[in-house]
Amino acid sequence: MWEKPAMAALTQARYQVPVYKTDKKYKIPKEITSQLKGAVSAKMISSMKIEAVDCPVAKTEIPFLACFVCPSFLNRVKGVVGCAGEKGPNWPPK
Ligand code: SF4
Repeated sequence: MWEKPAMAALTQARYQVPVYKTDKKYKIPKEITSQLKGAVSAKMISSMKIEAVDCPVAKTEIPFLACFVCPSFLNRVKGVVGCAGEKGPNWPPK
């Protein structure tokens, strides 16, 4: 049966991971922010620097922007990340 792409992503999601606001503003390296240019505005990137997820793969808190560029990231719907749960994030950066 044909599925809409968004529905396909949801059915592939192994984890549903809530995004939450933190007290701190993460320092995000240029390698990550440069991947977002054109897709996300500078203002949005700035506001996302205080967001994080409790990553089920890395089993620790990860800045949302690092989650956004993670190979397992599928989508973000209503503050919840759809995660394939295969490869973990490149965080902390080397
Ligand atoms: S997409 Fe990556 S960083 Fe985000 S929750 Fe899944 S494994 Fe963790």
